[in-house]
Amino acid sequence: MSGKIIDGKAVSAALREQIKAQAQELAAKGIVPGLAVVIVGEDPASQVYVRNKEKACAEVGFYSEKYALPEQTTQQELLELVERLNQDPKIHGILVQLPLPKHLDEKGVIAAISPEKDVDAFHAVNVGKIMQGDYRFLPCTPAGIMELIHAAQVSVEGKECVVIGRSNIVGKPMAMLLLHENGTVTICHSRTRNLAEVTRRADILVAAVGKAKFVTKDMVKPGAVVIDVGMNRDENGKLCGDVDFEAVSQIADAITPVPGGVGPMTITMLLKNTLTAAQG
Ligand code: NAP
Repeated sequence: MSGKIIDGKAVSAALREQIKAQAQELAAKGIVPGLAVVIVGEDPASQVYVRNKEKACAEVGFYSEKYALPEQTTQQELLELVERLNQDPKIHGILVQLPLPKHLDEKGVIAAISPEKDVDAFHAVNVGKIMQGDYRFLPCTPAGIMELIHAAQVSVEGKECVVIGRSNIVGKPMAMLLLHENGTVTICHSRTRNLAEVTRRADILVAAVGKAKFVTKDMVKPGAVVIDVGMNRDENGKLCGDVDFEAVSQIADAITPVPGGVGPMTITMLLKNTLTAAQG
């Protein structure tokens, strides 16, 4: 292996220490950062994510409330809860765990969250602010990736950055954050022609595809920085990323592993957004 491993666990742990210290300072002024997490239905992966978010809140001294609603919850009931949380002064951040059951309108629910409490940064107001480069909240996964890039002391300025994936939660905001740091950004997706030709141009390559070991060594320029957002299962059921780590790490300058790369950063950035919201 030649590539430097970017250790998301270590970067995340250091950031959580800072967040904890800042939360203590706020608590001394009588403000305890509060996060409300809302989950509807029984999706097992979502249950795990929600449990981890509550645990992370407790670790840094935040107040948290969990609302576990039954699968058959109506749109009206969910909107009423969101409105109640919008008005609750103990709550600075509201997170509605996605995906919601099919009968519920996710867009309508996100639109109902007060933009000041939208710690996932999914509300159209916050998305617009990110476009303008004037924001308080950043979507957690791309924000965590930027922290990793900074921690690895990689400068984005003037670099060819290629993002594979154009989802609203990862690909699009990721491209925007790289652009704000003066990268020359290309976004690829399932209709991109000659994908490998494009990805081989990248000094910084971000893979957010959702396909196990999709990015192979021949798609990567030697010396590139490779960020793997994917969380997939390989043929043996083992957690793996979108990048063929074993082969690509031979030629990359720096690379994030899965697990232990981008994953640990996402909840940390949620904590950071909640702290920001509490700071007012
Ligand atoms: P998504 O909404 O499914 O988007 C996947 C993107 O990949 C789409 O834009 C799609 O293109 C593109 N794509 C699919 N096949 C492709 C191909 N053959 N060539 C080029 N592009 C292709 O997924 P997501 O929510 O962004 O998540 C991506 C991955 O990141 C998943 O594995 C997810 O589990 C993981 N993730 C991890 C974290 C974390 O905290 N670590 C957080 C969020 C997501 P089209 O738009 O054309 O369909």
